[in-house]
Amino acid sequence: MGNKKIIITIDGWSSCGKSTLAKELASALTYLYIDSGAMYRAITLYFLRNHVNWSKDKAVKEALKDIELDYAFNESSQQNEILLNGENVEYVIRDMVVAEKVSEIAAIKEVREFAVEQQRKLGKKKGIVMDGRDIGTVVFPRADLKIFMTADIAVRVERRFKELYAKNPNITIEEVKNNVEMRDYIDSHREISPLKKAADAVVLDNSNMTKDEQLRFAIDLAQKKLGVPA
Ligand code: C5P
Repeated sequence: MGNKKIIITIDGWSSCGKSTLAKELASALTYLYIDSGAMYRAITLYFLRNHVNWSKDKAVKEALKDIELDYAFNESSQQNEILLNGENVEYVIRDMVVAEKVSEIAAIKEVREFAVEQQRKLGKKKGIVMDGRDIGTVVFPRADLKIFMTADIAVRVERRFKELYAKNPNITIEEVKNNVEMRDYIDSHREISPLKKAADAVVLDNSNMTKDEQLRFAIDLAQKKLGVPA
């Protein structure tokens, strides 16, 4: 698709398939995919494991000094996976224990500054697809292509339930629904970088779309930005 490289941001509500689309889009364009939510999840995991009292600024600042986040390419999954102080935590950060606390921790100013600084560094080379909640509004406000994803709550809960149930058959649909709603509420009501659609973002509602249809939609948008004839 030529030599021009752009930054593509995908923001939106919890569990509407942002990472699935972002991964497939990055792979179609041979771009780097970065899951910014994984950073907040890894920080949360560190805080939980180390009993960090995140209501205290000082404890948060001290803890962040001991956190190093990185990505390593996993040949079998063909994805970049997140490392927390050298340990691959890509799978453990998806647990409900982390999901229950992540939005509270992601609302902390110091935590956001820490994560955003790393996200911006990763975007320096362009040729990147990054998904999250504030990527098009705060991290890369001048991104070339911004997509804002949404889907019906029932569809989102069902999708997340299926994913989590495969790992833990004790999980109930109510637990998943409560978690998705709680995260959406905290993410969109927090003081710093709340989840909202950037004025120049294109809305993608995938409630009734297949994965292939949403990928086609995003590729078309990217090709227009890249000046590729349809
Ligand atoms: O994308 P994912 O659901 O894995 O993100 C987990 C949580 O991390 C979100 O619910 C949100 O609280 C936080 N997050 C954020 N800003 C981002 C990405 C994620 O606040 N850019």
